[in-house]
Amino acid sequence: MKAIVIHAAHDLRVEDRPDEAVGAGQVKIALAAGGICGSDLHYYNHGGFGAVRLREPMVLGHEVSGHITELGAGVAGLAVGDLVAVSPSRPCGSCAYCYEGLPNHCLNMRFYGSAMPFPHIQGAFRQVLVADASQCARAEGLSAGEAAMAEPLAVCLHATRRAGDLVGKRVLVTGCGPIGLLSILAARRAGAAEIVAVDISDFTLQMARRVGADVTVNTATDPDGLTDFAAGKGTFDVLYECTGVAAAVIPAIATMRPRGIIMQLGLGGDMALPMVMLTSKELDLRGSFRFHSEFAIGVDLMRKGLIDVKPLITATLPLDQAEAAFRLAADRSQAIKTQIAFA
Ligand SMILES: [Zn+2]
Ligand SMILES: [Zn+2]
Repeated sequence: MKAIVIHAAHDLRVEDRPDEAVGAGQVKIALAAGGICGSDLHYYNHGGFGAVRLREPMVLGHEVSGHITELGAGVAGLAVGDLVAVSPSRPCGSCAYCYEGLPNHCLNMRFYGSAMPFPHIQGAFRQVLVADASQCARAEGLSAGEAAMAEPLAVCLHATRRAGDLVGKRVLVTGCGPIGLLSILAARRAGAAEIVAVDISDFTLQMARRVGADVTVNTATDPDGLTDFAAGKGTFDVLYECTGVAAAVIPAIATMRPRGIIMQLGLGGDMALPMVMLTSKELDLRGSFRFHSEFAIGVDLMRKGLIDVKPLITATLPLDQAEAAFRLAADRSQAIKTQIAFA
């Protein structure tokens, strides 16, 4: 079988990898769709991010779906032929945080396509994937591409859960890549009354309006576009910060009303923050990292038609054009989510 392997920055190869056997409680999956994520792009463009560096070749990918071709012993509730979304979250189930009910903080997490531990955790961009049945959410009624959106959607549902009650709230979303756009969908589904979206690309802002943003601001062409929202003591109850870039975070903090909640999803690196404003406005700064139970919740929301991710899938390229797909995925003037078709 073929797999998409990153060797170093800009050294992406489609290589043969041996088939794996299906163990008890596992399923074999013919991969159908794989979405390219910001972290995959960091490995491709920079060989890692922050202190995380590639130290050996690694199969990329963690946003995948496919059809079951074989069931291991003891698997119930899944059948050969089923389309499933496969969660890349693989906590150990037996560390202190897993016992505490915080599996996204598992001390032994084996999240697909991650160079944090060594040896690296190999990813899921492979034609044939063996996964635990517990990672699989049945995705009948969805396209393979929609099913492969379950992972980034889960990230945004987790942040929404951490944000608390959104009913009637005014929400600001900074950064309108896939995570920002899915945050708009998740916040609206959770009851947000008004959603303002910020980016520096007209293409992504047009997509933000399409998925439900009430107001969009291009801070590249309209640098003072957020000023009115900062009047008085600010406007927004909740911020989904999806850039991780100080130039976006700091003006956004100025628009938060007292006791507002800042959900930090963007992972751009460390930065200096206006601590006096955070303190005097009694703002809550909350990190949000990965997800666990939200994966199956997101698949259900899509299957019920309550969240529609289809507009976000802007291109699907075949496996033999993997490198072109990675280059396209990095182009925010024309791509939101670029996926690879494995079958
Ligand atoms: Zn992802
Ligand atoms: Zn654990």
